[in-house]
Amino acid sequence: MEVDGRRLRAAHFVIATGSRAGVPPIEGLKEVAYYTNENVFDELHGRPDRMVVLGGGPIGCELGQAFGRLGVRVTIVEMLPRILEKEEAEAGALVQRALEAEGVRILTAARVRRVSGSGRVVRVELEKGDALEAEALLVAAGRVPNVDGLGLEAAGVAFDDKKGIVVDEHLRTSQPHIYAAGDVAGGYQFTHVADYQARTVVRNILVPWPKVTVDYSVVPWCTYTDPEVGRVGLSEEEAKQKGVAVDVWVQPMREVDRAVVESSEDGFAKVLTERGRDRILGATIAGERAGDLIHELVLAMKHGIGLKAISATIHAYPTFAEVARKTADRYQRSRLTPAARRLFEWLYRRQR
Ligand SMILES: Cc1cc2nc3c(=O)[nH]c(=O)nc-3n(C[C@H](O)[C@H](O)[C@H](O)COP(=O)(O)OP(=O)(O)OC[C@H]3O[C@@H](n4cnc5c(N)ncnc54)[C@H](O)[C@@H]3O)c2cc1C
Repeated sequence: MEVDGRRLRAAHFVIATGSRAGVPPIEGLKEVAYYTNENVFDELHGRPDRMVVLGGGPIGCELGQAFGRLGVRVTIVEMLPRILEKEEAEAGALVQRALEAEGVRILTAARVRRVSGSGRVVRVELEKGDALEAEALLVAAGRVPNVDGLGLEAAGVAFDDKKGIVVDEHLRTSQPHIYAAGDVAGGYQFTHVADYQARTVVRNILVPWPKVTVDYSVVPWCTYTDPEVGRVGLSEEEAKQKGVAVDVWVQPMREVDRAVVESSEDGFAKVLTERGRDRILGATIAGERAGDLIHELVLAMKHGIGLKAISATIHAYPTFAEVARKTADRYQRSRLTPAARRLFEWLYRRQR
C-alpha cells in the first residue's frame, strides 16, 4: 500500500474507507451550490430563510427537522410515496405528522426534474410541474461507498460502485489477506454494524482458525427524529414481500401511563411474530425514547425469548419500557381460547 509516497507492507489489510453522500443524476445539480451532511454544518454560514432537502430518508428527515427547529422554512422532497419508506408505514406517517406540525413541508411522490440557480436562490423543478425556491439545497439522497482512487483493481479486490467491496461471511475480500469493514463493505450502513464488523475482522486476523462468521439476523437501528423510530428485524411489508406469515401485535403509547404523564402519547410498539408461534421476527417502536426501548425486543429476538416470557417479566411502573410488556400481554390474551375463557369464568364465579 502506498500512503503519501510511503510504501507500507503488511500480512493483512483492512479497507474501511466508509461512504459519502450520493449525488443523484439530476439535470443542473452539479452546477448549483448544494450541501450534504458532510459540509452543511461547516459551510452554511447564517440561517437561510428556506431550505429544500432532497430525500425523505432518515438523514433527510433528521436534518430537515433540525433545520426546521433552527428557524429555517424546510421542504423535504421525496420521490417515493412516503418518507422513511424502509420503516413501518405507521411509523413514517407518525414522523410525517410530527414534522408537519412543526412547519416542515413534505412532498412525497415528488421527483425532481431539474435544478438551477440564480444568485443566492436555488430553483428546484419537480416533474409534476411545481417549482420550489430556496436559499439552501441539502442533498440527502443515499450514500455511495468510497471505493474510488484506492487502486482496488490493481490489488485484485472485487467491488461494485454502488454496493461497495464484495466480502465473504468472514469479511474477506476477493483477496483473502485483505478485509473490508463498515460502510464500504455495503449492507447495513450503521456505526454499530461497522463496529461489529471491525471486531469480527480483528478476531479473524488474530485467530485465523476457526474464523468467525458475521451474523446479521438481528440488527437494530434508530431514526433520530423526534419522535424516534427504533427498529429490528422484519417490517410487516417486508414479511409480506418475503411471503412470511406473521401475527401482528400493536400497542399504542397512549395506554402507557408514563407516556401519558409526559405528554408523549404519540407512538406505538408493533411486534411481528411467526404466524401461530411465539417467535419474534421483527419489531418497531415509534415515539419517545424508541431507540432505547427497542433493545428489550432486540435482546429477546437475539436469544429466542418470546412474548409470553416478556409478558411474564415484571416491568417497573411507570416506565416507557412497559410498552413492550403491554404488547406482549396482547399476545398472551389472544392465546385464551373460548374454552379456557369459559373455564376461568367458571373458576372466578366459584371462588367469589
Ligand atoms: C448524517 C448521518 C447520520 C448518521 N447517523 C447514524 C446514527 O445515528 N447511527 C448509526 O449507527 N449510524 C449513523 N450513520 C451512519 C454511520 O455514520 C456510518 O455507518 C459509519 O460512520 C460507518 O463507519 P465507517 O468506519 O465504515 O466509515 P466512516 O465513519 O465514514 O469512516 C471512514 C474514514 O475513512 C476515511 N477515508 C476515506 N477514504 C480514504 C482514503 N483513500 N485514505 C484514507 N482515509 C480515507 C474517511 O475520511 C473517514 O474518516 C449516519 C450517517 C450519516 C451520513
